[in-house]
Amino acid sequence: MRGRPGAANLMGMTTVTATGGQEPHTAVGRRAHPDKSPRVANRAPHPGPAEVSSFDTVSHYFDVAADRLGVPDDLRSVIWTAYREVQVQIPVRMRDSGIHVFSGYRVQHNGARGPFKGGIRYHEGVNLDEVRALAALMTWKTAILDVPFGGAKGGVNCPARDLGQDELQMITRSFVDRLAGILGPTRDIPAPDAGTNAQVMAWIMDEYAKLHGDAPAVVTGKPISLGGSPGREAATGRGVVYAYREAARSLGLHPDSTRVVIQGFGNVGSWVARIVAQLGCKLTGVSNTSGAIHAPAGIDPEALVRHLADGGKLVEYPDAEPIPAAELLALECEVLIPAALGGTIHSGNADSIRARLVIEGANNPTTPTGDAILNDNGILVVPDVVANAGGVVVSYFEWVQNLQHLRWEEHEVNNKLGASMRGAYREVEQRASRDSGVPLRVAAYELAIERVLEATRVRGFGGYA
Ligand code: NAD
Repeated sequence: MRGRPGAANLMGMTTVTATGGQEPHTAVGRRAHPDKSPRVANRAPHPGPAEVSSFDTVSHYFDVAADRLGVPDDLRSVIWTAYREVQVQIPVRMRDSGIHVFSGYRVQHNGARGPFKGGIRYHEGVNLDEVRALAALMTWKTAILDVPFGGAKGGVNCPARDLGQDELQMITRSFVDRLAGILGPTRDIPAPDAGTNAQVMAWIMDEYAKLHGDAPAVVTGKPISLGGSPGREAATGRGVVYAYREAARSLGLHPDSTRVVIQGFGNVGSWVARIVAQLGCKLTGVSNTSGAIHAPAGIDPEALVRHLADGGKLVEYPDAEPIPAAELLALECEVLIPAALGGTIHSGNADSIRARLVIEGANNPTTPTGDAILNDNGILVVPDVVANAGGVVVSYFEWVQNLQHLRWEEHEVNNKLGASMRGAYREVEQRASRDSGVPLRVAAYELAIERVLEATRVRGFGGYA
């Protein structure tokens, strides 16, 4: 990877802890700020087999676009460094053992275009490097979709899958207590991400209300009964399918002859599977943490959702063959959708991918080397900052409804989501073809950087305070 022209300025960035201490930010490219807190599980974090960290990946994509735009080093530092990074201690008394101390993070990356916005992830592998990378992605995503938010991300390094509801609730309430001063409907608005869901958002809303009074717009992705928006749960998956429709148009793919393989079958993956099947595509391979399955004749996503809801394991699904998880990405198909965690398409496996189209439902699933291999092999990649933006678009709709004390119908939400996704995709596509066919990712980052720079310039470089 090339050096960063603006890297020298990044060296001075500081990490501010909730207790007010300041720790030096180490050089870009190294795992900054090692997390020394005890972990609940003996499992090591799961950085995956990717050859670079999440933050290096996002830095690389940013640099490529900023170089092409000729952004000067000083401006580059202003829009690349994070506005605020917070790490907090979350001690929790566990059901079957003593007190465990988790680490919680919130990175507010850039607020030039509006209040900070971004999900909260619960996963044992969460660390500051990853949260920082995901926060930056949110800045570019909200700019590309032109929703009036900045970018943020949060997470707790807890093994969400293994925890009870009582433990998750305690973790969530402690996390909110420690962040309460920097959250708010006009400051920073969390949402669900991997390992969190509408119930976690409900606890966030309730804990915030205890401290500041009722304010449903402080968080999105809430249950409908607490002011959540119709259509929000499926929004990221639905947005991925809108991206598929646009990309399929340019590749001449028809749903009836489209085989889809999905890595990850949580919120995003399972909704993509259900909605893409309604279009007529055939789901031929799926994986989750329990393993992978393959069925050339097609897997019924609704039946698979029911199987999992009844407590079955994915690999025990009766109408498909279990395959080694590593083989999933290499299945012959037209569309591959990574919808799990970051760094899953990398130098070691990108060359085995046989899809015509990769749509990044997950955040940061492809390393720079993996991306270069896909591009060299003529595979069209719809980048995360476009493909999975449906979630933040409908989060914006939820926020608007909360502020206006209104509720929209689901079809209205879905139609507006479709218009936003189509508009953003076509804008990025036109820019890519205007710039002699650069990859969609480069065009998307260029668009985002221009918008954030413009907002920063007219605001006067102070950013959001
Ligand atoms: P989730 O926790 O609901 O589901 C994650 C799924 O990935 C699970 O099925 C899990 O078993 C599977 N998984 C994890 N590691 C895996 C691996 N190594 N191989 C195969 N499967 C694996 O999370 P989600 O909300 O669906 O988020 C998935 C991705 O989409 C994340 O990268 C997230 O940042 C991104 N995303 C989510 C949203 C949202 O609204 N939820 C919005 C934008 C982007």
